[in-house]
Amino acid sequence: MEERRMNSFDNPYRENPLDNPLGNPFSRQRPVAPPETIEAIKLWTRQILALSEDTALSVGQFGCSKPGCPRNMTTILVMSESAPTRKISIHKSITDVCESDVQEAVLDPRNAAP
Ligand SMILES: [Zn+2]
Repeated sequence: MEERRMNSFDNPYRENPLDNPLGNPFSRQRPVAPPETIEAIKLWTRQILALSEDTALSVGQFGCSKPGCPRNMTTILVMSESAPTRKISIHKSITDVCESDVQEAVLDPRNAAP
């Protein structure tokens, strides 16, 4: 279960219909957010946490696990060789996340480094 969730971090854009312009767009999952939005979230996270270049970031989106909640969760993984992976969750879709959301999430004790 947890492993399956983690796998969707690999490449949220692997379903990009531009990769296969002749394919049936309805048979493919739509991308969760434009790449520039994901890059912006990574940049804010990098700046707010003052991360070094060797720290990798991964941004993913999941449905909220609370029953009946229609919202999505954006999850930022902060991966470095020198520290345990930190998971920062924001209770919004990727396209709705702004810099202040990242700022707040980083300060939230539930998103603290392990
Ligand atoms: Zn929710």
